[in-house]
Amino acid sequence: MEKAAENVEIAVLGGVGFNSYREFESQPVHTPYGGITTYFTTIRRKRVAVIPRHAGENHIPPHRINYRANIWAVHAIGAKRIISTNSVGSMRGHPVGSFVVLGDFIDFTRNRPSTFYDDKTVHVDLSEPYCPEIRTALRCALEKKGLSYTEGIYACTEGPRFETRAEIRMMSQFADVVGMTGVPEVILAKELSLCYASLAIVTNQACGLTTQKLTADEVTEVVGKAQDSIFEIISDTVENLKEARSCRCRFAKEGACL
Ligand SMILES: [Zn+2]
Repeated sequence: MEKAAENVEIAVLGGVGFNSYREFESQPVHTPYGGITTYFTTIRRKRVAVIPRHAGENHIPPHRINYRANIWAVHAIGAKRIISTNSVGSMRGHPVGSFVVLGDFIDFTRNRPSTFYDDKTVHVDLSEPYCPEIRTALRCALEKKGLSYTEGIYACTEGPRFETRAEIRMMSQFADVVGMTGVPEVILAKELSLCYASLAIVTNQACGLTTQKLTADEVTEVVGKAQDSIFEIISDTVENLKEARSCRCRFAKEGACL
């Protein structure tokens, strides 16, 4: 392992418009699913890796992201925790720019490899998909900054198109926010017994909840404006996490294999 990747405790998966990593030292990480570029820095005396989910200048669309390589890379560098940022549309009228700490998800994706286990049967338990320890650390960080946030259920769609009005009416029966990138990474993290939690930022109202047309620009713009704030919340969250994990995430695979 090269020096930059030594003693990394936490990985941050950055979403759309998350550019805070650009000054950090970069290093390729090889995985069985392909290579990715990972960025390394120190936040509050802890070594942190940043993986830009959409990778580099070309912006890989949500249905083509190499989720397995991204999560495998976290495992390969020895980090045990993932703090993810995801932009979401609100189905509950959350204000644009506010935050949602995800508590559960519903998977409407269709064509994404969502397991590391194609050659044996592994039924991983997802009764608590998002790590309770990281969620607590996120909530404390948001409260310290006096930022408004809620907790909620995430519906993940395949994309890259936005949803229809009828789809939002259906999904809003079961979930609070909708996005395209949170699944399968939450599942893949669980398969490797990693802790994973997500800070979702509301970038727009879901289709049919406003009279305005949805545009990709507004998503980037909202996250761009919130950039410093997101980075500070993540930094405080990193600081809030104790070195040893006492959650059950590390036992996720117990009893999962046939
Ligand atoms: Zn955990």
